[in-house]
Amino acid sequence: MKSAMINFLRQNLNPNPLYSNSPNPGQYPVKAPKHGVAIALILIATLGLGACTRPSTPPLASASAPSEAAPAPANTQEKKVILTTFTVLADMVRNVAGDRAIVESLTKPGAEIHDYEPTPSDLVRAQEADLILDNGLGLERWAERFYGSVQDVPRQTISQGVTAIPIAEGPYQNKPNPHAWMSPTAALVYVENIRQALVQVDPANEATYNANAKAYSQQIKEVDQRLRTALSALPANQRYLVSCEGAFTYLIQDYDLKEIYLWPINAEQEGTPQQIRRAIDQVKSNQAPVVFCESTVNANAQKQVASEAGAEFGGVFYVDSLTDANGPAPTYLQLLEYNVDTLIKGLQGG
Ligand SMILES: [Zn+2]
Repeated sequence: MKSAMINFLRQNLNPNPLYSNSPNPGQYPVKAPKHGVAIALILIATLGLGACTRPSTPPLASASAPSEAAPAPANTQEKKVILTTFTVLADMVRNVAGDRAIVESLTKPGAEIHDYEPTPSDLVRAQEADLILDNGLGLERWAERFYGSVQDVPRQTISQGVTAIPIAEGPYQNKPNPHAWMSPTAALVYVENIRQALVQVDPANEATYNANAKAYSQQIKEVDQRLRTALSALPANQRYLVSCEGAFTYLIQDYDLKEIYLWPINAEQEGTPQQIRRAIDQVKSNQAPVVFCESTVNANAQKQVASEAGAEFGGVFYVDSLTDANGPAPTYLQLLEYNVDTLIKGLQGG
């Protein structure tokens, strides 16, 4: 019954974003909700949609065998629904949850996350979830207002306990740089926070979550060691990582690299003439041979930097989003390895 109502909501809601982007960083102008939101909120209130669980397997087809009447006990167990804000986090949570929970990402692969514009159907998904996990550190600039419309769903911020590195400049100067997951060391803190959050909401599966978290942490450590070894071979004058967004601050700290970026964080100002001029000067003066740009933003400004600084454009990094299954970074660990491989290939001349 409830799922029929939710389907109705999903099919009838306005697909447009709930809010337009704020012109001022950190400020959220109060706007009257659009028609679709009002309907969603009224329906949520009227129907009393609350946190719920879903069956662990889809219902059997109506034409199936008589055994339908007596499903195995394992199939009757209900799984918790864990909603994460973006694809990287969803993959980490899936690794800890295994098959014991349903893990979803609010944003799709390739989506911009900082200034994401939630839709009314996102609100319904959040209201349906048993637990919402976000990155925090200011990544989800839209989150506070979004959560204001979600009632009685527990939330956890997964970067808690990570030592934040402040943003060096621009309108968000001195606010935390949110990209802590780009450091495998910090990712271990994420995994422990995810484990604790899952155990809290679903203590019946504690042993599985503990074992999965341990195994996944071990995998992260192995990738970390591989990347450390590969990057340590780079000569001292070739340790520049040039990106569009200053999203590698945690990673360069782990691996003793140097960072040049076009803009400090994805926001309103991306690729201004001043930013391009400065990047060209820095790439030239440090003789960085290659520059890159992230998958979720426009690379044109960085291609201009490459061309005017006499550097190569080395391709795309994945930071704020995974790719879909057919792309080069469908998991967090593959994202880390792809970026470092791409960087090393670029620095070594392809
Ligand atoms: Zn970012």
